[in-house]
Amino acid sequence: MAQGVEFICSFCERYVAAWDDGNPYYIDLVRMVLKGLPRSRCKVYVYHPHEPRFPVEGNDVPHLCMDCGHEFNVDSELNRTTCTKCRSSEIVDCFQLNGRTCHWCQKGVFKSAGFMIS
Ligand SMILES: [Zn+2]
Ligand SMILES: [Zn+2]
Repeated sequence: MAQGVEFICSFCERYVAAWDDGNPYYIDLVRMVLKGLPRSRCKVYVYHPHEPRFPVEGNDVPHLCMDCGHEFNVDSELNRTTCTKCRSSEIVDCFQLNGRTCHWCQKGVFKSAGFMIS
């Protein structure tokens, strides 16, 4: 079971949702070795991390760029600190958006709009 939170801009009502456990994955080592693929292409996402059949090795955490509005995943193993699109360092974990100024209107701030459970 995963828990999510929804944020909504107080001015333009732009909506962003985030899941607290992100996108956990493990690496398919057999595939990586046999096919000679790079590690990043052998990720297998685990949708029920609390019942692991395989050890979870990392997590792709959703982030939002406050400069260009690009939404992308940051691999917890790679320590990325810049936007994959515009290379700004103004990136925020989508789960930490509460109180941040909205990128799209620059007037409102994001407020928690409720919780989701899947
Ligand atoms: Zn806004
Ligand atoms: Zn950006």
